[in-house]
Amino acid sequence: MHRIVVVGGGAGGLELATRLGDKLAKTKRAHVTLVDRCPAHVWKPLLHEVATGSLDTQVHQIEYAAQARWHHFDFVLGEMVGLDRASRRLQLAPVFDSESAGEEVLPARLIEYDTLVLALGSRTHFFGVPGAQANAITLDTVEQAERLRRRLLQTCVRNQAHRTAGGRETVNVAIIGGGATGVELAAELRRMEAGFRQFGLHASGRGSDIRVTLIEAGSRILPALPATVSTTASGLLAKLGIDVSLSDRVIEVGPHEVKTLSGRAIPADITIWAAGIKAPDCLASLDGISVNRINQVNVSRALQSETDPNVFALGDCASCSWTEGRMVPPRAQAAHQQAMFLAKAFRARIEGRPIGQFTYADHGSLVSLGSESAVGSLMSGIAGKSIFLEGLVAQLMYAALYRKHLAAVSGMRRALANLVAQALRRVTAPRVKLH
Ligand SMILES: Cc1cc2nc3c(=O)[nH]c(=O)nc-3n(C[C@H](O)[C@H](O)[C@H](O)COP(=O)(O)OP(=O)(O)OC[C@H]3O[C@@H](n4cnc5c(N)ncnc54)[C@H](O)[C@@H]3O)c2cc1C
Repeated sequence: MHRIVVVGGGAGGLELATRLGDKLAKTKRAHVTLVDRCPAHVWKPLLHEVATGSLDTQVHQIEYAAQARWHHFDFVLGEMVGLDRASRRLQLAPVFDSESAGEEVLPARLIEYDTLVLALGSRTHFFGVPGAQANAITLDTVEQAERLRRRLLQTCVRNQAHRTAGGRETVNVAIIGGGATGVELAAELRRMEAGFRQFGLHASGRGSDIRVTLIEAGSRILPALPATVSTTASGLLAKLGIDVSLSDRVIEVGPHEVKTLSGRAIPADITIWAAGIKAPDCLASLDGISVNRINQVNVSRALQSETDPNVFALGDCASCSWTEGRMVPPRAQAAHQQAMFLAKAFRARIEGRPIGQFTYADHGSLVSLGSESAVGSLMSGIAGKSIFLEGLVAQLMYAALYRKHLAAVSGMRRALANLVAQALRRVTAPRVKLH
């Protein structure tokens, strides 16, 4: 049987492995394996909610081993570290137990493939800014989001104790990068603060003791979205009491402050870096695979590596041209569309038919600004142009994107059961995680 190995079970990879499992592995037309360095999947666009405690990963994660059993593919836990293209084998690093002094749980392994799909996602790009990697927290993984959540909680609890003893302090949070991740995180911090206040973990009086500064090098926040979206979002952030610093580049990140090119030193107890991405470094060292300057695999319109027709790439780690001079953006909707394309293409490949070309359709973008508001623009097929959306309608459509992802990987029945389970949990647990 033809062996398809998908490395990375994220927004694109998990959907692809699931579709291939249901269509090809179930009918014994291919053997499908998913490799991931983590045992469970959490949809990456939810990470800012994990960081502010409004989303419990235990409730929202999909365990790969169970997903594999339900959808007829194999799951292998491990981190890809190398590739031998001549013998079509990928190398996995050993897995160590993080709890018991690094004891080896699984040895280094080799996995054979006929078709390989690289779906490794992306990491934060610090652009060599001094102190950024050492002092800023990022939102690349669930562990990092959880780390940020604990830092925020501990800082607020410490301040509350200080205040009880007669002092009054402000928690300074600096967010670097005014793209969707930075804006959504800034708004979520206010929701977190309200939750802490409700349960006595933060200032009981009026006013906020968390000062949030969003720093953007460009002349407006959300530079990739239409100007109306950016203006509306700026107004909503102002209402939430978020300071926005524009047209100023961060040149250094220290343990307690962020320095900018204009000479400002912005106090920061916690700094979050949300500016720029690059694909994992390991891709740049893979045997003969061509990558661009941010490690993305250069692929054709069929998502096939320029240097090896048996290797494909999708999502954030792929560099695929879109329209004249533009590349497909690193977004969940692109990863989803590419997963759908490859699922069909591999059926054609196995049957010896041509696999066609991928065309990205931009459906627009929505940015969440707390529990009841969102803003964005959606592409209208009828009008042929983008439609501006804001408020509760935009928020409901934003929430629907995650439900759509769940339906794509879990099926409608499980996605609905999941929705009911989450609604019930809201009745029994606080809206914000408190420990
Ligand atoms: C806070 C935040 C909010 C976002 N909001 C939006 C949004 O609203 N809309 C939108 O369209 N996009 C959004 N994005 C971007 C979106 O999350 C990504 O574009 C999307 O997840 C990319 O999908 P992917 O499949 O390429 O990679 P990912 O979803 O990142 O998955 C990569 C997978 O590869 C695994 N992996 C990595 N390296 C290895 C290795 N060496 N070996 C084995 N496994 C490995 C990882 O564990 C992970 O499971 C957001 C991103 C963030 C961080």
